[in-house]
Amino acid sequence: MKLKQIIDILEEIAPPQYAAPWDNSGLQVGSPEAEVSSILVALDITEGVVREGVRKKVDLIVTHHPLFFHPLSRLQTDTGTGRLLSPLLAEGISVYAAHTNLDVATDGVNDRLGRALKITHWTALQGETTSDTKGFGGVGKLEAPRRLLKIVSDLKKSLKIPAVRLVGPKEKTVQKIAFCCGSGASLFADVCRATPDLFITGDLKYHDAMNFLLEGIPALDIGHFASEAGIRKPLAERIRHAINKKGSRIPVHVSRAERDPFQLI
Ligand SMILES: [Zn+2]
Repeated sequence: MKLKQIIDILEEIAPPQYAAPWDNSGLQVGSPEAEVSSILVALDITEGVVREGVRKKVDLIVTHHPLFFHPLSRLQTDTGTGRLLSPLLAEGISVYAAHTNLDVATDGVNDRLGRALKITHWTALQGETTSDTKGFGGVGKLEAPRRLLKIVSDLKKSLKIPAVRLVGPKEKTVQKIAFCCGSGASLFADVCRATPDLFITGDLKYHDAMNFLLEGIPALDIGHFASEAGIRKPLAERIRHAINKKGSRIPVHVSRAERDPFQLI
């Protein structure tokens, strides 16, 4: 299949018009005219993911995070982004990123996180909700109140995370939960407005933690990677299914090489 046909599929899954204005989703490396016969799905382009793509002989890597955010002032192939780009270009591997548009998409990253939290009905913390998009973040209620520590132990099991960081009291009963995949601290004002019993996200900084403490809203930092890694498998499945529907069969692998860059030691 041509890459542009795969892009059509990806843009149906994560419509690009829902990306945040500061985002850089879309085709990062390659040509829409390139032939694709094998795909790898990952969160990021890392050296490990590039090596895995080369080893698996894929023509396309679909990532969540864009490879480019800032303009390159040089393309030196022994350092930084150049070190990643060099093998990609040499091996003819294209890269496509579905970032904030996949965060907000129905069945997207945040939707998956909501399901992992067992929140069935929720509304966006920010932005519109249509049949294609659910908006940024979410706030909803568990069917019944639960102990915060029980929510944490279930999350650790389902997301396979060894530890989380809590801001606020451990002993608390929770029913209304706000959540945002990735770095959700930017939704601070929206979270305060929603007055949840608990806010769950990744990437909380020290001063974010202080702000939540001051507002009396317990906040749980489950890690950026853990809050988003669960999207890879269902995304690969949807891409595979859509390709099959078009009468083609292309292997769609889920990255096994990538790891949370943070490790507890
Ligand atoms: Zn992210």
